[in-house]
Amino acid sequence: MRRSLVAGNWKMNGDKKNIATLVAGLLDLECKADVIIFPPYVYIPQVLASLSDTVIAVGAQNVSERKVGAYTGEVSSEMLRDIGCQYCLVGHSERRSLYGENDRQVAEKFYQAQLAGLKPILCLGETLKQREQGETLGLISAQIDTVLDCAGVSCFSDAIVAYEPIWAIGTGKSAAVDQIQLVHQYIREKLGEFGAKTRILYGGSVTPANTAELLGQADIDGILVGGASLDIGAFSEMCQMA
Ligand code: PEP
Repeated sequence: MRRSLVAGNWKMNGDKKNIATLVAGLLDLECKADVIIFPPYVYIPQVLASLSDTVIAVGAQNVSERKVGAYTGEVSSEMLRDIGCQYCLVGHSERRSLYGENDRQVAEKFYQAQLAGLKPILCLGETLKQREQGETLGLISAQIDTVLDCAGVSCFSDAIVAYEPIWAIGTGKSAAVDQIQLVHQYIREKLGEFGAKTRILYGGSVTPANTAELLGQADIDGILVGGASLDIGAFSEMCQMA
């Protein structure tokens, strides 16, 4: 049985005061699902300290594909592990589209994260053009193949995948639930023997209004929430439905 998971990606939002308010709202969270918060890097220690008496986990929104060394501005998986992070996002579409991360780099990040004992959440997804050209499944297959090539098949024995159609992120346009379910089913089948255990999240304009329907699908094990996770009332509602 796969446990439901709700992840909140705060992106580059907030300041010390506002983060404290968000975290205070999380202290009363009632939820049977696993919950992970992804604050901006600099606020991770603050969030870790404030949530230390809760079961809410904390992760990083990005990580270096390198282990250690002269990579100015980068943060390694071992550093994140060292300060108490348990998770990191890899290959978020904003990293791919705005910072040019390619499948190989994402796969290396995934690999380094696992080596350091972090649980990476591998984000996959297509652009609107790719969807319209019928390339969605081929693209997702290629993204997974690059990870398999870099990290080996057993890397999916304890991994989490997030399907996030790029055109649905931050746009208010969620993909149709049956389309999402099809992609999730495809990902699960693609992961072979590890598919049944792997949690596959959906992300892209998730709100309290569409959460229940999404989580009702056979292959949607959780949600990765961006914008709506900054509204603790809405985020709590989504957690309660999971
Ligand atoms: C995200 O950033 O992963 C995301 C899904 O954003 P939003 O919920 O705002 O579409």
